Amino acid sequence: MFVTPDFAELKKAIAAADAFDVQQALAAERIGIKGLAALLSPAAKPYMGVMAEKSAQITGRRFGRAVQLYAPLYLSSFCSNRCVYCGFSADNQIERRVLTLAEAEHEATILHDRGFNHLLLVSGEAPAKMGVAYLEELALRLRDRFAAISIEVQPLRGEEYARLFAAGITAVAVYQETYDRDVYRQVHLSGKKSDYDHRLATPALVAAAGMREVGIGALLGLSDWRAEGLAIGLHLAWLRKHFWRTALTVSFPRMRPAMGEFTPPLPVSEREMTQLIFALRIFDPDVGLLLSTREEARYRDGMLGLGPTRYSAGSCTVPGGYGNRDVTGEQFSVGDHRNIDEVSEVIRQKGFDPVRKDWDPIFQMHGRRPQSAALVI
Ligand code: SF4
Repeated sequence: MFVTPDFAELKKAIAAADAFDVQQALAAERIGIKGLAALLSPAAKPYMGVMAEKSAQITGRRFGRAVQLYAPLYLSSFCSNRCVYCGFSADNQIERRVLTLAEAEHEATILHDRGFNHLLLVSGEAPAKMGVAYLEELALRLRDRFAAISIEVQPLRGEEYARLFAAGITAVAVYQETYDRDVYRQVHLSGKKSDYDHRLATPALVAAAGMREVGIGALLGLSDWRAEGLAIGLHLAWLRKHFWRTALTVSFPRMRPAMGEFTPPLPVSEREMTQLIFALRIFDPDVGLLLSTREEARYRDGMLGLGPTRYSAGSCTVPGGYGNRDVTGEQFSVGDHRNIDEVSEVIRQKGFDPVRKDWDPIFQMHGRRPQSAALVI
């Protein structure tokens, strides 16, 4: 089982890095955890130009000029957890709803008609309102129309992930939110999500169940972003070692205004997030890096080709919001309001290829069996 090292130790390792360590990391063909710590450190600040160049080269070599596009589809705003930073927190007085299967299918059809082939199904964590049977049925209804269906919902059991994979869901995102145990306790007041270790163990469960892709990440703004980056690197390396057949992605959700008056204790600037993205790209050339519509168009456009490989577009963070723009109760406000065609056009203008489909369910026929837990050390 993956265990996060003490957060204070991670900070210490980063603070110990100097300019020589950074230069060594930038000169190396591949870097390990020590190199990642150096690139995340304040000592790397003067080297941002070199890091950008290296990150862009690696991204181009591994992913070509492709930028994958996806859209989130919010299914339910019910949640039994109390996370202080989230608009869906059980404490917040918002109008909540869970889409019926027909409504969810209707929203998906709208996204399909807008040109999306990759769907991310999102919900608050309230299994009594929206459980595995719902997701399974929805996936069965949508699988023929979408090249890829991912989920970002409550952590499930291994056999439930296997069931959803069989129904056509191929990727699962489970963000740790923060790898800092003390902060985790402070911001997750109650509900199943308040169990740090259970959440940390879930990405391995997902991979062991045979899912094609697992997404991890931390909410930027809750704790020290440099140490979060090092913890993400350690988690990635552990998952790669134990589940080499599983594709991995990292997301960079930078905190946005939400209900509940929560102010991020340690806000992360664009420049800092950029350093984090470059460092992780140099550390793990194969990892998919997601940049969502939380970020403004100007920043997303500027980052094209420099590291991120997957962009969301035209996102709405409230259930039913694609068909009805008047519904309220969003999880967070978005920073880039352009639709998929507008985002695609900018990607093309900058010399990249907007990819709406990068996977076909036909690939799934030739057996990705669950990776045996017996193989997991
Ligand atoms: S972050 Fe997720 S689990 Fe926490 S309140 Fe929001 S929707 Fe619920």
